[in-house]
Amino acid sequence: MKFTKDQEEKFTKLNISSWSELALIIPHSYEDLRLNDKLIPHSLQLIDATVESVYRAANSIQITFFAHNFGHTIQGVLFRPKPYMMHQFNVGDRDYFFGMVECKVGQCSITMPKKVTNIGAITPKYKSKLRSDVMLRFIQKNLTLENLVVEGLDAKVAEELLTLHFPSVMLSLKELSITTLEALKYTELFVYMKQLSSKKRYFKSIAKASRSYKAWAKKLPFTLTEKQVEAIQDIQKDFAKDISAKRMIVGDVGSGKTMVILASAYMMLNKRAILMAPTTILANQLFEEAQKYLSDAKSILVTNKSKKIDLSEYDFIIGTHALLYRKLPKAGLVMVDEQHRFGTQQRNMLDKLVCQGEKKPHFLQFSATPIPRTLAMIETAHIDVSLITSTPFKKDITTSVIHKQDFQELLLHITQEIKQGNQVLLVYPLVEQSEVLEYQSIQEARGYWENHFENVYVTHGKDKEKEQVLVDFSKKGNILIATTVVEVGISLPKLSSVVIVGAERLGLSTLHQLRGRVSRTGLKGYCFLYTNQTSSQRLEEFCHTSSGFDIANMDLRYRKSGDLLKGISQSGSQFQWIDLAEDEEIVQRVKGGMMVPS
Ligand code: ADP
Ligand code: MG
Repeated sequence: MKFTKDQEEKFTKLNISSWSELALIIPHSYEDLRLNDKLIPHSLQLIDATVESVYRAANSIQITFFAHNFGHTIQGVLFRPKPYMMHQFNVGDRDYFFGMVECKVGQCSITMPKKVTNIGAITPKYKSKLRSDVMLRFIQKNLTLENLVVEGLDAKVAEELLTLHFPSVMLSLKELSITTLEALKYTELFVYMKQLSSKKRYFKSIAKASRSYKAWAKKLPFTLTEKQVEAIQDIQKDFAKDISAKRMIVGDVGSGKTMVILASAYMMLNKRAILMAPTTILANQLFEEAQKYLSDAKSILVTNKSKKIDLSEYDFIIGTHALLYRKLPKAGLVMVDEQHRFGTQQRNMLDKLVCQGEKKPHFLQFSATPIPRTLAMIETAHIDVSLITSTPFKKDITTSVIHKQDFQELLLHITQEIKQGNQVLLVYPLVEQSEVLEYQSIQEARGYWENHFENVYVTHGKDKEKEQVLVDFSKKGNILIATTVVEVGISLPKLSSVVIVGAERLGLSTLHQLRGRVSRTGLKGYCFLYTNQTSSQRLEEFCHTSSGFDIANMDLRYRKSGDLLKGISQSGSQFQWIDLAEDEEIVQRVKGGMMVPS
């Protein structure tokens, strides 16, 4: 759409770029400039009045009006008048004035009256980067149904929004009607998704692939879950197009994303696939799984310890971000596992490295941070999304909230688990004592555990040796004391229990990630949430919820969605109207109305 220079200037000042966004800047109040012959006390009201006298005092002006619409006099008061205000009141003049009308013991007054000309209408007042009257004129001149509809906004929604800017009756902004509220939600989301989709670029793909995953799946020692199959089929359809795919596959810890990765590599085998993982352990694990379940592929593992060799001989290249510093051969497919663990910069680097001229490889990102369905729908404006909402086998994890008085019992439990050859993870919130408020830090707590138990390992986020510590622990450890670093998707098959100290300080998604560390292979698992809080509904609810997607919704409800949105959503924006936990239907409508290509 073309804007005039004036419109563009105002848009820039308001920091918007469309009429729909302008429509979202709603008035903060209204002035009823209709003439009423009934005096309504305690209200802003219009009078049609003749000035009878003006009296100037030190800090105020008093004006006696004869209000023709009421048929009696009314006393005007201006406190601390500015010079320009004086000129509005000349004895004998008849004009329209607007102000707060009050009555006390038969005497009526109008406070801070001001001369108005724009009478007969309900006039919106705006608070924006433009002066209220400038904004009013701008909106009245430009905000039309036509302008909104041309942008693609639903006509009914647009009409509803216009009633806020061109009201025919007095509206209360504190009690907006459901239809108005829905129109605001709709438009807010419409604007957001439109911005997202304008960022979506289509590139030709380097390679198409029409190979089916079915022959490969047949040879697996288990049957793929329905959700795994759905995700794989989404990807198979992507590969059949000559547009390069950009898809995010989201599934809880243990939902079997690796199989989707391997199926994708299989379908792209003769066109080469590259897979990047956030840690050496994870890359190693993926490499081993590739050798086991995808033996047709010539796979290689690349870490910062591997020698520089010609990678073009391999059709499945698996590695850490060491890959970013290698010369990579042309590939039809690039995948990133645990993508939420990489910085945007690293992801972009990878993207660029494998981009060949105008064409791009298909790009798949795998994430273990479940997102609410609504958010997934919104994200489809710029990226395709597959959700794996089930796990191949039910994990049996008992979650409970514990307190100081339960410590002896906890010790007993830990002792028993270790006796049975199982491992225990203790998560402490902080490393340095100075930061500690009401819980022990790792450094303070480790002594106790090291004195009372054997084979205790300790690591934390800044620990350079943490990968090695995790490897050593997995082989011979009883207890691992760590911060949330263990969130990274490594597999510790003997881990049966996790104790999270100061659980209330962490987001539900993080708690869920930590809980997902135990019972990876069907072992009976335990998750203890240690807190000094006497009661927490949030933690109690968490104990009874096992699906990561449900937890993502809970996170939204408890308004801890900041975390959640940051990693996933482009803007991490906080919406003013729409509620992602409640408004699925509206999200659906906006999405349907936008006809986002799938
Ligand atoms: P994540 O989604 O966390 O990456 P993984 O891919 O590591 O999960 O899978 C977890 C475990 O489930 C692995 O041991 C894997 O071999 C196993 N697995 C994956 N898919 C299936 C399936 N369809 N049936 C049984 N086990 C499966
Ligand atoms: Mg995984």
